Amino acid sequence: MNLIDWIMWKSGLDNRSKKYSYGEDPILGYTSARKHADGWVKSTCGYCSVGCGMQLGVRNGKVVGVRGDPDHPVNLGKLCPKGLAEHYAIEAEDRAMYPLLRENGQLARIGWDEAIDTLVEKFRAVQRKYGPESLGIISTGQLVTEEFYALGKLVQLGFGARNFDGNTTLCMSTAVAGYKRSFGSDGPPGAYEDMETADVVLLIGANIAENHPILCMRLEANPTRTLIVADPRVTKTAMMADVFLPVKPRSDLALVNAMLRILVDEELYNKEYVEQHTTGFDELRASLDQYTLEYAAKITGLAPELIRKVALLYGNAKAAFIGWTMGVNHSTKGTETVNAINNLALLTGNIGRSGASPFSITGQCNAMGTREAGFASGLPGYRKFESEDDRQELASLWNLPVARIPAKRGLAYPDIIEAAVAGKIRALWIIGTNPLVSFPNIDVLKQALGNLDFLAVQDGFHPTPTTELADLMLPAAIWGEKEGTYTNSERRVSKVNAAVNPPGEARSDFHIFLAVAERLGCREEIFPGWKSPGDAFDEWRRVTAGRLCDYSGMTYAAIESNGGIQWPFPQGSSTNPAAVRRLYADGRFQTDDGRARLLPTQWAPFPEQPNKEYPLILNTGRTVEHWHTRTKTGGISILQRLSPRAWLEMNPVDARQLGLRPHDRIEVISARGRVSKVELRITEIVAPGQVFLPFHFVESNANRITQSAFDPISREPNYKQCAVRVERSSLHERQNA
Ligand code: SF4
Repeated sequence: MNLIDWIMWKSGLDNRSKKYSYGEDPILGYTSARKHADGWVKSTCGYCSVGCGMQLGVRNGKVVGVRGDPDHPVNLGKLCPKGLAEHYAIEAEDRAMYPLLRENGQLARIGWDEAIDTLVEKFRAVQRKYGPESLGIISTGQLVTEEFYALGKLVQLGFGARNFDGNTTLCMSTAVAGYKRSFGSDGPPGAYEDMETADVVLLIGANIAENHPILCMRLEANPTRTLIVADPRVTKTAMMADVFLPVKPRSDLALVNAMLRILVDEELYNKEYVEQHTTGFDELRASLDQYTLEYAAKITGLAPELIRKVALLYGNAKAAFIGWTMGVNHSTKGTETVNAINNLALLTGNIGRSGASPFSITGQCNAMGTREAGFASGLPGYRKFESEDDRQELASLWNLPVARIPAKRGLAYPDIIEAAVAGKIRALWIIGTNPLVSFPNIDVLKQALGNLDFLAVQDGFHPTPTTELADLMLPAAIWGEKEGTYTNSERRVSKVNAAVNPPGEARSDFHIFLAVAERLGCREEIFPGWKSPGDAFDEWRRVTAGRLCDYSGMTYAAIESNGGIQWPFPQGSSTNPAAVRRLYADGRFQTDDGRARLLPTQWAPFPEQPNKEYPLILNTGRTVEHWHTRTKTGGISILQRLSPRAWLEMNPVDARQLGLRPHDRIEVISARGRVSKVELRITEIVAPGQVFLPFHFVESNANRITQSAFDPISREPNYKQCAVRVERSSLHERQNA
């Protein structure tokens, strides 16, 4: 509400005619006058990794509306509810506007010079006292690639710090680790178009109808496909399925291994592809011995004939696509499950051609960009820390001594937190993420943050549960206020543009990183001649030339005019920039011998089994209206009205046994804590013995009860299964009275 409207409202004057008047817009047609724009700026949605093209309508320096870009190949003008309301985040009342420094326990406004001086002095002091490894940095998949690339250089070459990771480890590191082990490199091999051309689409632990809604449009464009959905919940995506597999929690690995065994036993695999393009077949076959239909049926809860039916459907498909998201990734067996999925695709030759791909559906808008730009689990351009050639190549590209480039990755996100608990990490820089809501077993994180000598938080919003704890708060521009590129799940690099200026004194993350480098005295060395994200992009094109994620043929103008370009797109490429590209079409992989690896994997029970005290299995997940920790969507009234609070889904069988009724307020209790006064929904969406809680809501934070269990390879948390009990809240209150 602007000042004049506020004065009218406070004075009791009727301003409804202003609010509800309509008019004819040349593009939108007959619509609310408040949405009429003077001009439209093309950009890309800043929420999920689908990467929808959109246009932001601007009037008088404000974004007054958004619409889907009808020419963008990903979404053809459509947007989901979050995308349609995204511009409201720009005007939110809790936007961070000024740098703040904690003095006498309170955050007080300071200028940028003092803020940057403080950040550098505090970090340097901690590193001098405790060593370079005592500084940790946790960033986000919300930055544009240019910012993430700049941040990696700043952290590793400027501060000489290695303990750098992002919130992407909480959602996608498992897919990264799985791809690297199977194919020698990260990189989803397929394209969204494969959903339209596959004759079998298998979705495992992927509720795209809630979490990547526009992909359902791509599926619907393929009416002849057989859609198989494996999920413990009857999700909205499961309701679209031709074949639904209501698997027991975290039994997907046993299901996939049983499918593999049937394909091998019945010789339904592609012998020629396996012989020419893979290694490890004999070891894989031997590892499948125990995965009989009966064994898999016992683990998954599925009928043996259903498992066989699905294996035959997949094995007989001309082109089969497997998509997965957090149901697979959020698991201590996640990486192995990704490898088993890749085994299925390799064994049947379902990779590198239209309709045929294993395909991780990424989470955040630019999680893929962070994976390419590296500095966390790998070096930029999918180079390896341990490869001397890779380090040498980067050193010459950057004109720096090779000794400046680390030969080993630093700590992953959960290990940074554990190191802070142990007093080894003493200063932390958190950028664009809100771990006080998103990190599992939140008490451990609180202990870690409480141990620090200095905490800097950089975010577009304040207060958030995390910025409230900061010693230094740096206000950042958000989507709609800055420029760069995002890469979506199908490796499509799309342009992001500023439509308006950031509020108050907030700056783009890119310019904050430049200022920090300036203060460190290394700006010209690590960011030579850089003034805008376009300068970083030019260097990034050179750094990726010849790599799997080759950007060298792209320009900002070409990206915009084609609605994004999929990598690899090398300089001099004769192919149409708008053409659909797939990886590994030639059967050559990024391993030393060029062959993909068939890897044996073994199912095991999830770490915290239900027991007498905690008899239910908790599953956590998302809802279409909200984004992660609700920093952006919590202040958007239409989304809040649609989904105002958390709820717990429970099967009627369990509810009857516990004497609970719909809409009861209940407590969800694990060995680590409790979530209080959650509304109960009694529904057959969840099976008996299981409950589901969305993780977006700080007031009912699911991470008070999740556990500290991580995939040993990817370090991704096992958010999905922990043992809980449920009680009516009034009972708890009586006990505490
Ligand atoms: S599907 Fe994802 S990218 Fe598309 S509008 Fe919705 S949130 Fe944005």
